[in-house]
Amino acid sequence: MGSPRRLDRYRDKRDLDRTPEPAGADAAGGRDGPCFVIQQHDASTMHWDFRLEADGVLRSWSVPKGPSTDPSDKRLAVATEDHPLGYADFEGIIPEGEYGAGSVIVWDTGTYRNLTVDDDGAEIPVARAVDDGHVRVWLHGHKLTGGYALTKMGSDRREWLLVKMDDSEADRRRRPTSTQPESVLSGRTIDEVAEQHDDAAS
Ligand code: MN
Repeated sequence: MGSPRRLDRYRDKRDLDRTPEPAGADAAGGRDGPCFVIQQHDASTMHWDFRLEADGVLRSWSVPKGPSTDPSDKRLAVATEDHPLGYADFEGIIPEGEYGAGSVIVWDTGTYRNLTVDDDGAEIPVARAVDDGHVRVWLHGHKLTGGYALTKMGSDRREWLLVKMDDSEADRRRRPTSTQPESVLSGRTIDEVAEQHDDAAS
C-alpha cells in the first residue's frame, strides 16, 4: 500500500465535509487485478479522467478529448493529483464552489495488465513506470480493451500523451466517447446525472 501522505494533495484541494467524494484509501474491492477507471467529468470544461491503480492509489490524468481507439490519435493527458482507490466507484455531483464542481460518471472501468518492460524485457512496476514518464497497459474494460501507452512529453512538465497501441483491439472508426456516452455503473449520461440533481434541488 502507498503511504497515506500520497493523498495529501487530494485532501488539501477538497472540503470533504461538503463534497460527496470519498476521503479514504479504501479499495473498491472484489476485482481480479489492479483497476483502471475513466470518469467523464463536466467541470469548468468537459474532460475524461483516466486513472490507474498503482501502489495503493489511483494515478490520474485529465484527458480533454477523452480516450481514442485509433492509434493515430495522440490525446493530451494532463497529470493530476493521486486519488484514493475508493474514487473508482464515484459518480455524482461535486457541489458548486468546491474543487472540480460539476457532474461525474464512471464512463468505463475494469482491470488492467501491466505491459511496461525495460530493454531486457523485464517488467517495470507501474508506479515506477509512471514516475519514469512512460507506462503501457492492457485494459480490460466494458468499452475499451487493448493496449494504451501514456508518455510524458518533457521531464518537468505535467503534459503527457495517451495513445492507443496498434494491436488487435485498435479501431479507427469507433468513437466510443460519442456513441457510448452512458455510465457503465448506472446507465446514466452525464447530463442525466446533472438533471436528476437539478430536479432534487428544486
Ligand atoms: Mn476531473
